[in-house]
Amino acid sequence: MKGMYISKFAQYLDILEQTSKRLEITEILKNMLKEMEKAETDKGIFLSLGYLRAQFNSLQFNIAEKMMVKILANAFNESEEKINKLYGEEGDLGNVAFKVNPNEKPSKTTILEVHKKLEELATISGTGSQEKKIQKASQILALEDKLTSKFLTRIILSTVRLGFTELTVIDALAKLIFENVTNAPKEKSSTKHNLSAKELKIKIEAKYRIRPDIGTIAKVIKENGLEGIDYISMEVGVPVHAQKAQRLADPQEIIEKLGSVWAEYKFDGTRVQLHLDRSRKMPGLETNQQDLFESRNTLPFVKTFTRNLEETTHQFPDLVEAANKQIDAQSVILDGEAIGYNKKTGDYLPFQETMQRKRKHGIKEAVVETPLKYLIFDILYLNGKTLVDLPLVERRIILDKIIKGNETLEIDYHMETKDVKRLIKFSKEALDRGLEGIMAKKPDSFYEAGARNFTWVKLKKSQEQILGDTIDCVVLGYYFGRGVRANFGIGGFLVGIWDKRDQKYKTITKVGTGLKDEEWEKLKEMVDKVKIKEKTKNADISSKYDCDVWANPEIVVEIAADEISKSSEHSAGFALRFPRLIKFREDKSATDTTTPEEFEQMYRLQKKPIVKIDESLVES
Ligand code: AMP
Repeated sequence: MKGMYISKFAQYLDILEQTSKRLEITEILKNMLKEMEKAETDKGIFLSLGYLRAQFNSLQFNIAEKMMVKILANAFNESEEKINKLYGEEGDLGNVAFKVNPNEKPSKTTILEVHKKLEELATISGTGSQEKKIQKASQILALEDKLTSKFLTRIILSTVRLGFTELTVIDALAKLIFENVTNAPKEKSSTKHNLSAKELKIKIEAKYRIRPDIGTIAKVIKENGLEGIDYISMEVGVPVHAQKAQRLADPQEIIEKLGSVWAEYKFDGTRVQLHLDRSRKMPGLETNQQDLFESRNTLPFVKTFTRNLEETTHQFPDLVEAANKQIDAQSVILDGEAIGYNKKTGDYLPFQETMQRKRKHGIKEAVVETPLKYLIFDILYLNGKTLVDLPLVERRIILDKIIKGNETLEIDYHMETKDVKRLIKFSKEALDRGLEGIMAKKPDSFYEAGARNFTWVKLKKSQEQILGDTIDCVVLGYYFGRGVRANFGIGGFLVGIWDKRDQKYKTITKVGTGLKDEEWEKLKEMVDKVKIKEKTKNADISSKYDCDVWANPEIVVEIAADEISKSSEHSAGFALRFPRLIKFREDKSATDTTTPEEFEQMYRLQKKPIVKIDESLVES
């Protein structure tokens, strides 16, 4: 068989769209995986999640709604007026495609054929590319049946939102292996094992954390079954899920919980995972980036990623050059924080200034005006071997050996102690230096990709504040508001946190303060870009909090509040008192919000008497 027809695939997406029940979604995905051919599994899984390739390697269509109106008009011989009118009625161009495409007969193009055409579409560039894209996309859609064109339209627009994530695909893969093994004939002993579906899921998820490429994982498992899991490993160029930190209220609690710790400063810069491989050349750069890299022809392969797994290499030409000079190794993956500093005083700069690097233009100027330090605190991979299963102490010895000098790249300073007084003193020093706080790490701990455990604990500045830490949450929609704000068309917004256990967003508060005028405008603009017709399927939102404009959960914001209280109305079970916006967290993804467990813990911590730093202790 040459593969699954795209029309069959669209039927699967159609039934997935009709349910929001996690178990049903998992079952449908499992059946779809079962029916797919091995060779098409990666592409099929990517498309079902609405993209073409693993996200760290993403390829965008850059086709917006306006252009899609032209594409649909062209593909189905309709006027743009009619398409626009239908769009007004339907609110979704996929549905419009379904309406105007007269073709009922299921198409016989395969997933692989369509995927190839979509890749070609996404890679069209240069002069006249708009027109070429319209032609190409119209051709693709015109050949397909109604249902297929509906989903392809959404894939091209990046609006496939079927309410499941990569983690649900992992559940489905675990189920698939489990059933294959359980149903395997007795004589096939190689497939035998006694792992439950849940244990299989944990195994696959651990691999996903070191290789976040769900398509490849699905394909390898489809090809090799259970054994396939063992073939999935870390690779330079493929970002690893970053380890995250838990929080505790004060140094005393840290020492009680962790024992002896390695304390490091917590810098408020941006997380950078740096990959280098000297056996490969620097990959092709976009023309407008070429002059950023002075010695581009001689540079080895270097890539940087955020903790969100997004590639950021173009932002850091200075880090790329420095990595080449200062790293004495064939291949490495490093973890650290990049932070801007003042050339004259040597002081570190506030987060917003470091983040200037996020702008597409002016990088060259930023490199000169705002030089960076890359403070390296971990090494995950060296010369073909992963190091994550070595204790931190051993990883640091290796790191010390391969980093030369301390110019742009610098190994993060640490202090070892099990003495509360020394930890208090260190934390005070950090605050005096204008830093965010400290990180305490367990010296014998492994690098736990993607995990948030008590092997890394953060302690932020706020001993004196009522609620110790801010909360990262995702925007679920906004309200038009009344009074002066109504002029902006936005007067408040609803936020929630991601609950991994239920795979749902849970609301915690409405926010109506703490934003400057330009921030209100920015937020409205950001939400309008990702607005959806109805509230997202994977959220629990009481009708009391129905928004005027719903957002696809993508925008992460950092919120401060005076207090966390229990709530029967917000689905997270907690609400915030006096919430206010601190900043936009473009470096975080929607499922990377403060977790329900952390929330519970913050609730508990705020009840504790506030610990003041006792100066007499510090002096001793
Ligand atoms: P938070 O964003 O508050 O959850 O804190 C975790 C973040 O602190 C990490 O993702 C890093 O970007 C940052 N960070 C700053 N300094 C360190 C450090 N020494 N060790 C680990 N993470 C650090």
